Amino acid sequence: MSKAKQTARAIRVAVIGAGMSGVLAAIRLRQQGLDFVVFEKANRVGGTWRENTYPGLACDVPAHWYTYSFARNPEWGSLLAAGPEIFDYFQRMSRQFDVEQKIRFGDEVMKLEYLDGRWTVTTASGHQDRFDVVIAATGVLHHPNIPKFDGLETFKGAVFHSARWDHDVPVDGKRIGVVGTGSTAAQITAALVPRASKFTLFQRTAQWVMPRPNIVYSEDEKATFRADPAALERLVQQYRTRTIEGYATAVLDYDSPELAEIQRLCSENLATVRDPELRARLTPGYRAACKRLVISSEFYPAIQQPNAELVTAGIQRIESEGVRTDDGVLHELDLLVLATGFHTDRFVRPAKVYGRGGIDLDKVWADAPVAYLAVTVPEFPNFFMLGGPNSPVGNFSLIEVCEHQLAYILRLIDGLSAGDYGEVSATQAALDRFETERQEAAKRTVWVTGCNSWYLDKQGVPASWTFTYGRFVDEMATPKMHDFETR
Ligand code: NAP
Repeated sequence: MSKAKQTARAIRVAVIGAGMSGVLAAIRLRQQGLDFVVFEKANRVGGTWRENTYPGLACDVPAHWYTYSFARNPEWGSLLAAGPEIFDYFQRMSRQFDVEQKIRFGDEVMKLEYLDGRWTVTTASGHQDRFDVVIAATGVLHHPNIPKFDGLETFKGAVFHSARWDHDVPVDGKRIGVVGTGSTAAQITAALVPRASKFTLFQRTAQWVMPRPNIVYSEDEKATFRADPAALERLVQQYRTRTIEGYATAVLDYDSPELAEIQRLCSENLATVRDPELRARLTPGYRAACKRLVISSEFYPAIQQPNAELVTAGIQRIESEGVRTDDGVLHELDLLVLATGFHTDRFVRPAKVYGRGGIDLDKVWADAPVAYLAVTVPEFPNFFMLGGPNSPVGNFSLIEVCEHQLAYILRLIDGLSAGDYGEVSATQAALDRFETERQEAAKRTVWVTGCNSWYLDKQGVPASWTFTYGRFVDEMATPKMHDFETR
């Protein structure tokens, strides 16, 4: 439904979250001269790179690609940049692009309500403000999943989730246990086996591990990147093309030669584990890339060290001295780390979001969070998400994904600013069509070939972009206005 052109108006935007995507939104909104406020519950920017500080934290996506396209960073110390270096990058970006003063720190957004054509934002402190547009930049891997192990509270040692690392707890020479075998646990294992007196990894499901040796950049190489931005950009494009043509294509078709190649590389890597019994226990019973690939050249060497033990018996309960497994063995520990992942279906929640006529986003998303093209939800006008439900996720740069999404959102905001419309949201028909097509495409993906992972929703449907990456880029290039309701 379209209406005659309205008057051009100054648009006010609320951005929720000051992680990678929120800082990105702030930078672009500022460049466009739009009025905005960023709401951040913590006291610093950085999102996942602020919250995760575990030993070994790094990004397994090539660093030069995992940067804003408009602020490539010749200074990265290595191919797989360390967590603190990435955290520092985002802090630097928020200062360099002068958006820090636009961030309202230390106050969590609790409620978003669409009333009389504008969004009212209410925070935990009771602060209220009104905006024309909300951009939720709240991340995906944000709410720790803490399993309810019997007896957890009786453990005498220290216990915490990997995203809540307590650096006051000593690790050197200690007996350390880690639950989980995802990307996080693999990085912690590589970092802490050399420091622990005894390291125990509690594996429920084995993981496929793709090797990727880290490259440390010399001062000469950094100087070259500095002197020749075009050469640096060519390098970024090489990583990008390789990942899109390899990984992103592979996962869409479980019969593809690209997926077979990933399987071959992971199997070859697994074959480097010398002890056949350990190798058998590390061998997954599902296909490579069904779960997110663990990327590490250090995990297998670490888990083969004499002070490291892989425990595959189930966790029965936690006792004061450690972890009791189903085979009756007590694994005595000083420190237990839960590298048990995240609730990945939260998005903007737990904030309550009420759209047109008071419609509750929790109810709309009761079965599974959905959004047209991962960006907009019918009946929630002028509400947009970065990294929203069914965005492309995987072993590639989420920064690039969010840049495409933001460009799309900014085009929709342009229409608001120009007075082409006062409200814009996807039609239900467009979302239904998109979802039907997305779920149909999901049937060919590797994610449904017999594993459990955070890439699947409660119904077992891949919670991801199931089309080509090229289609994602094309869709984000220009909003198809016939898929939108405008008023
Ligand atoms: P994850 O991949 O969700 O892995 C969680 C692990 O905990 C799994 O091994 C899971 O076992 C185990 N687990 C969960 N509940 C358990 C229970 N009750 N008992 C025993 N084991 C349990 O979490 P993550 O490793 O934190 O990684 C999450 C995501 O963060 C990654 O997929 C990736 O996207 C991102 N990440 C990226 C990087 C990077 O370098 N770019 C690094 C770290 C994380 P099951 O497999 O049996 O469920």
